[in-house]
Formats: sequence, structure tokens, C-alpha cells
Amino acid sequence: MSKEQKFTYDSPTANGRVTLVGAGPGPADLLTIRGLRALEAAEVVVYDDLVNNDLLDICPSTAKRIYVGKRAGVHYVPQEKISEILIEEARLGQHVVRLKGGDPLVFGRGGEEMSALAAAEIPFSVVPGVTAAIAAGAGVGIPLTHRDHASAVVFVTGHECAGKTANRNHADWAALAKTGATLCIYMGVRRLPEITEALVEGGLMGTTPVAVIANATLPNQSVHLTTLAEAPILSTTLKGQPSLIIVGEVVRWAELQQTMQSLQLVG
Ligand code: SAH
Repeated sequence: MSKEQKFTYDSPTANGRVTLVGAGPGPADLLTIRGLRALEAAEVVVYDDLVNNDLLDICPSTAKRIYVGKRAGVHYVPQEKISEILIEEARLGQHVVRLKGGDPLVFGRGGEEMSALAAAEIPFSVVPGVTAAIAAGAGVGIPLTHRDHASAVVFVTGHECAGKTANRNHADWAALAKTGATLCIYMGVRRLPEITEALVEGGLMGTTPVAVIANATLPNQSVHLTTLAEAPILSTTLKGQPSLIIVGEVVRWAELQQTMQSLQLVG
């Protein structure tokens, strides 16, 4: 199969398959063109929260739409059941699109879905999406790896899943504090007080710049520029809003974009 054929989604095959598509951070125009093609050729679309409804409209009107997100913080459909749905629908010979917020393989449980599909011998492919950290950086004008300040960037979760023990796969905040990397913290707002304290204990200054970006790249984006010492208060302010926390010297660049935008407004 040539490369070109491999990424053609408009010829339904007798065999079912699944395409895991990254929906990006929210706005429909941040979907990739490859993701768009997959949606146009979807016979079934399985989607969750943080996915823009406009993206569902791209699917043919005949496509079956299955919602598997969270309601009021509770998983509406357990992960195992989601994988079962993907397998069942694909076994009916359909092209199933699994549409996930951001990138499907960044804190998105895409790995579990891939394993389940592989075990069931269902062919699948993955279409990347703009992940929240990249969206937040761009949305606010923070160069995550500005060469003068950071030669590494870390994507880390602030919310550890219940099954994890203290020493297994757990974010080691003290170690992260020593890397000098820009830290992009997903799902961290609720635990901001503990995270910022651990980073300061690990050696970062309380004055280290922090940006918390809620609803990055969406019309209701809000940007909160602060420091490690002052950030915990945002835990209450931003409760329940999808937010990305960026820690590091590069955060200072956010002010540059804000200044430029206000100049534009004046001009
Ligand atoms: N797969 C997704 C992440 C899923 S985890 C991705 O690659 O982006 C969900 C977390 O992502 C949220 O709690 C929040 O921390 C972050 N997030 C998702 N969309 C966001 C947005 N538009 N603005 C800020 N943070 C966002």
C-alpha cells in the first residue's frame, strides 16, 4: 500500500477499523486536515468531553454518534466499556472514529484503547492533535523551549489516578524542580497548593513565574500570570475549568504578547 493510499479515508473497506483522532484543544479549526478527512469518512464517532460539537457536524449525517464522556466529574462510561464499544462497532465492518480532546496519546488513555484494539485484532491508526500544553503556549505566546531559558519541556499530570502507589509512575516534583525544564502541568488546578509547595521544597524559588491558562485557544480563554508562591489561590478561582499550568522562566514572554495585543487594540 502506498503512503498516499494509506491515508485515504473515503473508501470504506469490508473490514472495520478504528481511527483515534486528536480533536485539538477546542476550536474546530485546530483540527488537523487528516483528522478532518477521518471525520468525513466516519460511520461511527465515539467522543467525549472537551470535544467541540462542530467537529461532530463534519461527520456524515448518517454516522452513529456515541457519547462516552464524563458528567459532573463522573465517568459516564468506564474505560473498559469504551474499548468494548470500539471493538463491537469495528467488528460490524465500520470505520469508527474515536475522537479525543487534544492529542489522543497525551493523558488521553489512548494507549489503553490501542492495546484493547490490538488484542481484538482490529486495525487502527492514530491522527495526532494539538495537545493542551502546545495550545496554551501558543495561545498566550509562551515559547516553551526558549533557547536562553529552557532546553527541555515536561508534560506532567497533576492528578494521579487512584490506583497508583506513591513510588510507582508518580510525578516526582522535587526531581522535576531540579531539571530547569519548563513544566506543563495537566489536570493540576485542584492540586495547585500541593504541587507548588512540592516544587518549592524541591528547590524552585517562590518567585518562579507561573501561568495558568484556562480554556486555552477558546473564545473564553483566561490567562493568569502569577508565581509559585501566589498560584495556590487559583485553585478555587479556576475550579472545574480545563486549565494548563506552565511553570518556568519562559512564562515571562506571555507579557510580551499581551503588550503587543494591547498595542494592536490602541492602533
Ligand atoms: N489529551 C488531552 C489531555 C486530556 S487530560 C490533550 O492532549 O490535551 C485533560 C486536561 O487537559 C485538562 O484537565 C486540562 O489540564 C488540559 N486541557 C485540555 N484542553 C484544554 C484547554 N483548552 N485549555 C487548557 N487546558 C486544557
